[in-house]
Amino acid sequence: MTQQGILIVLSGPSGTGKGTICRELLRNDPNLNYSISATTRLPRAGEVNGVNYWFVSREKFQAMIENDELLEWAEVYGNFYGTPRRYVMDLLSSGKDVVLEIDIQGALQIKKKFPQGVFIYILPPSLDELAERIHKRGTDSAEAIKQRLSCVTAELSCAYNYHYFVVNDEVDRAVQKIAAIITAEKCRVERN
Ligand code: 5GP
Repeated sequence: MTQQGILIVLSGPSGTGKGTICRELLRNDPNLNYSISATTRLPRAGEVNGVNYWFVSREKFQAMIENDELLEWAEVYGNFYGTPRRYVMDLLSSGKDVVLEIDIQGALQIKKKFPQGVFIYILPPSLDELAERIHKRGTDSAEAIKQRLSCVTAELSCAYNYHYFVVNDEVDRAVQKIAAIITAEKCRVERN
């Protein structure tokens, strides 16, 4: 019988570098797959449908909820985001590992359904550094940046629900730590 893959949930405040970390993890681990979320947010410059997200209308998103096509979903900064169920379940049952890069609300829903999942929270080295990174990224309006930063403190206070904290002071180091966590989790005998 094929052993189930492991489900890895990565979260962290906007601008912590989750996206870069994810890309590096996927590049280094051929058994790891990225779950492409559905979102009602508009694409940013350079984002591609079916690569970064499935960009859908609010009506389509609502239909996905009603048809139980999403493993979890949440409203984040005024837009809806959700994890398509089928893709994740098929991969896990064929022994592949899957990484979900989702917010805390979604992570809590996943934790109820998959208590055996691995929950990793990525922290910025400091709040000042975080603000600087979001500004430098240059992809969000001043209003969106303000909204994202104002959510950070509340979000951090829920982060105790995760199994691991990784500070992204340097991408390579953070990637190494997460790869080590995944390796250790795959060797673990007892899963709850
Ligand atoms: P962004 O708009 O910057 O791509 O993402 C905004 C937030 O939505 C991030 O915290 C990201 O992790 C979260 N997010 C992305 N996809 C999903 C998803 O499928 N479900 C949930 N709950 N959050 C998501």
